[in-house]
Amino acid sequence: MAEQKRDYYEVLGVEKNASDDEIKRAYRKLAKKYHPDANPDNKKEAEAKFKEVSEAYEVLSDSQKRQMYDRFGHDGPQGFGGQNGGYYSYSSGFDGFGGFDFGDFGFGDLGDIFSAAFGGGSRNRKSSGPRKGADLKANIDITFEESYSGVEKTITLNRHTECSKCHGTGAKEGTKPETCKTCNGTGRIKQVVTTPFGQMATQKVCSTCGGEGKVIKEPCVECKGKGTVRQSAKIKVKIPEGISEGQTIVLRGEGEPGSKGGPKGDLYINIHVKKHSYFTRKGDHVLVDIPITFTGATLGTEIEIPMVDGSKEKYKIPEGTQTGSKFVLRNKGFKSVNNNWRGDYVFTVNVQVPKKLTSEQRDLITKLAKTMNEQPPIKKRGIFG
Ligand SMILES: [Zn+2]
Ligand SMILES: [Zn+2]
Repeated sequence: MAEQKRDYYEVLGVEKNASDDEIKRAYRKLAKKYHPDANPDNKKEAEAKFKEVSEAYEVLSDSQKRQMYDRFGHDGPQGFGGQNGGYYSYSSGFDGFGGFDFGDFGFGDLGDIFSAAFGGGSRNRKSSGPRKGADLKANIDITFEESYSGVEKTITLNRHTECSKCHGTGAKEGTKPETCKTCNGTGRIKQVVTTPFGQMATQKVCSTCGGEGKVIKEPCVECKGKGTVRQSAKIKVKIPEGISEGQTIVLRGEGEPGSKGGPKGDLYINIHVKKHSYFTRKGDHVLVDIPITFTGATLGTEIEIPMVDGSKEKYKIPEGTQTGSKFVLRNKGFKSVNNNWRGDYVFTVNVQVPKKLTSEQRDLITKLAKTMNEQPPIKKRGIFG
């Protein structure tokens, strides 16, 4: 990754000593400006800007991360990003566009980008030193309605936790790991090897302690010296309203425990939204077909529209409504996970022609037909268009 990243302060257009409020304000302004939905003409570019801005905000809005950034710049120390534990963030799976939320869920990030930049990668694979725990993945299926209104789900997950008997040391109760005598606790052994080019001093990992610098004389019976045990854990997941198919919720610090004081890994939860029998989603809009009678379409009628949350809205269909006509209920669609707005509810009327008529109805329609003894004019492009 030789790509030159822009300085986060520069990205948000704030001073190095900007207050949290200034950062928040700058971010909101830019997020609005670059939101892809607000830039239909150059979506790609806006999306890239949006991501950049979001990533900058993710770091600068968190005092701990900001401090680290001020000190280490973009590279960050290893394992950074996992220490806080338990906050939520979102990143989308398919359209590559990450969302987030100002509300209860804390500030989201583009999880993948972030963990790529700050640890979790394959750098620093030393056998000594703290290491971040592995990330875990899980899936949650939710209904269309749940994605509309948000929901809390509990998932059960098998993961390792610190052994409560030995508190993670791996040593039997009442004992402690001892400093390895072979390497004096350094984990390495100096070696002088004779090569065709002369004698060379090298270091190798101590085989007695495996590079740990400590040995366990009597292993803990509970975890057999590993320091962790596999346990099923119940984890509550708050799924925000408006979340859509393929988005990911990242729970920081809910992955596997780190080693040697390293931070816990993260839990990536993939959200799958089940298909609805009549609603569909497009962006943050709700789409639905609503059948109306042909008399209603002709004379005008008031109908009840089913909303996603189960409520009903009355709507006056004007007389002379054609099949396929679209009507919009503004701001009755999905709440945007990314912003403080809602999509619309758009319904398309589908005029139903009766298939069976009573003889009385047939008479009435026949009479009606006689008053309309003309075929409607064929529009240009009409039947072949
Ligand atoms: Zn143990
Ligand atoms: Zn050793």
